[in-house]
Amino acid sequence: MSNRFESKVVVITGAGSGLGRAAALELAKEGAKLSLVDLNEASLAETQNQIKAIAPKAEVLLLTADVSNEEAVKKYVEDSLAKFGRIDGFYNNAGIEGKQAPTADYDSKMFDKVIDINLKGVFYGMKYVLPVMKEQQSGAVVNVASVGGIRGVLNQAAYVASKHAVAGMTKNAAIEYGQYNLSINAIAPGAIMTDMVVGSLKQIGGEDAWEEAGKQFVSVNPKKRFGKPEEVGRLVAFLLSGESEFINGAVIPIDGGQSNQY
Ligand code: NAD
Repeated sequence: MSNRFESKVVVITGAGSGLGRAAALELAKEGAKLSLVDLNEASLAETQNQIKAIAPKAEVLLLTADVSNEEAVKKYVEDSLAKFGRIDGFYNNAGIEGKQAPTADYDSKMFDKVIDINLKGVFYGMKYVLPVMKEQQSGAVVNVASVGGIRGVLNQAAYVASKHAVAGMTKNAAIEYGQYNLSINAIAPGAIMTDMVVGSLKQIGGEDAWEEAGKQFVSVNPKKRFGKPEEVGRLVAFLLSGESEFINGAVIPIDGGQSNQY
């Protein structure tokens, strides 16, 4: 096992589930000190239990916060700094899907909620982490976009708008902060089997037929399967490790090739 994260501090939002938890486990195995942020306290505690099982010595700080609340974001960054003194990596990952509906039927309050979490949450995260990394003259950020940040996805106006915006904001920050030795990228996962995707399939197929909806969904993927959270975790680890330092402003699909298939 390599230890690319020995003495590195990484902040992960949405660390209580799915992609955030998988990255936390991946980084803990490689020696990272972790500041884990989520709205859901119980699921954060479960992530910590899973980390203890594979990396008993890992230093972990749990922070309950809503990423759509700017003050809460400022605080999770301050608390992370108070505990660890620096931030080497930032996985700006927390997000929600929202309710599926054609654009004209899309509920306006839900639209605001998706934008508040998926877009403003990512913006606030960068707003408070980038000055820390600029001061250090080092650091790497991975924002979470989606294939929905590259192309349209049926019935997901707010999600797709938020994820295209995350991709755009990533490119912008990359050209602003590259000169300070920071690398800022986004990942664009396809369907990776997490609670969010189960929820999405239930919206498509209903409680009884969501597994069948899932089979149909992946039948058009070149790899004929869902992605695994740990596959995304390994990509995130690479992008935060320093090994990929010249990759800056990229939006990297991890989707079995599906985003090429229009
Ligand atoms: P998930 O639902 O399994 O996990 C999301 C986590 O974020 C949960 O623990 C939840 O409590 C937390 N969260 C939600 N709102 C929050 C808030 N306001 N403040 C703090 N934490 C909050 O979902 P996931 O599949 O792991 O998704 C993680 C990210 O990956 C999201 O941004 C999602 O849009 C993106 N993504 C996922 C997929 C996929 O197929 N799973 C594909 C593309 C992009």
